[in-house]
Amino acid sequence: MIKIDRKVLGILDKAREGHAPGKEDCIHMLSFHEISPEASLIRATADSLMRSKFDNNGMVFAQIGIEIAPCPASCKFCSFGEGHTSFGTSNMTDEDILATALNFTESNELYALFLMTMHNYDYDKLIRIVRMLRNKIPAETKLCVNIGDFDLSQARELKAEGVAGAYHLARLREGIDTTLDPKSRNASIKNLKEAGLDWYYCCEPIGPEHTPEELAEQLLFGREFGGCFQHGAMNRIYIPGSPLARHGQITELKLGQVTAVVTLAMLETEATKTIGVHEPNQIGLTSGANTIYAETGANPRDTREETSTNRGRDIAACKKMLFESGFSHLLTSPDKRLPLKNIN
Ligand code: SF4
Repeated sequence: MIKIDRKVLGILDKAREGHAPGKEDCIHMLSFHEISPEASLIRATADSLMRSKFDNNGMVFAQIGIEIAPCPASCKFCSFGEGHTSFGTSNMTDEDILATALNFTESNELYALFLMTMHNYDYDKLIRIVRMLRNKIPAETKLCVNIGDFDLSQARELKAEGVAGAYHLARLREGIDTTLDPKSRNASIKNLKEAGLDWYYCCEPIGPEHTPEELAEQLLFGREFGGCFQHGAMNRIYIPGSPLARHGQITELKLGQVTAVVTLAMLETEATKTIGVHEPNQIGLTSGANTIYAETGANPRDTREETSTNRGRDIAACKKMLFESGFSHLLTSPDKRLPLKNIN
């Protein structure tokens, strides 16, 4: 009989009874090699618990990167970081943003549409775009933002203008591999929670150099402030010439293992309604994630200005990946789901 670490079996038994692992348990699960039987069992358990928690519903979100500029955050993992980027400055026009948003939302299948900016962004312009889009895209499609830091009054204004949520986090080694202060990033999270926005969080950007302790610490932050609406895991994409390129990239299998630990860690968090895996892949979608993103425009993990020509997937490709991963339905709003078919 195959031997499985007894401590892992104990953690997974407790998870099946509804108890989320603590920090030491997460560190332990993350310390196994991704090809170990323990890692496979952790992924399988997270997968089955997630499917019953989310009723085997998959979800598709989309993101439009509305601008590109050498970004002063200089994140060493990002293709836009000032000091190592080869991109200049370019902005999508309002017309292009509107056309792209309508294209993404016309089939009424997206749960939410995100607008993404660099760390520095023009707040008034963002509000203008939110106003332009909010009445034009379907009312049931949530509009969300992935932007730099913001204060409480801005978070409240975004909410009042119809923004439903914001993606925000202090990333792995924030302040070391970036020029940003993790305290400012976390202050924005407090602001968005206080304003009543949904909090989108993620364990990212994971590279081979991150230790199980670092990963556990960062992923468990998603349970703070009452918990995030969306959690997930994202690998760092190898970008030639970027300062962290020397470390290489983790495998999708390792990403699946972290996704599974995230899923187990959020078992008892009522607020968490979706688990993402970025870049989208089927290992993640069979390891606890039920959510992937379609992307267009700027993408920090891409070396092309328009990600839909390279890394970004469209909605049809996302639905196909969800179907192939065994999801029976697509959740398009809190109360509406559509059957997933093999020819979507
Ligand atoms: S990850 Fe975001 S904040 Fe960091 S350099 Fe890239 S665009 Fe700027």
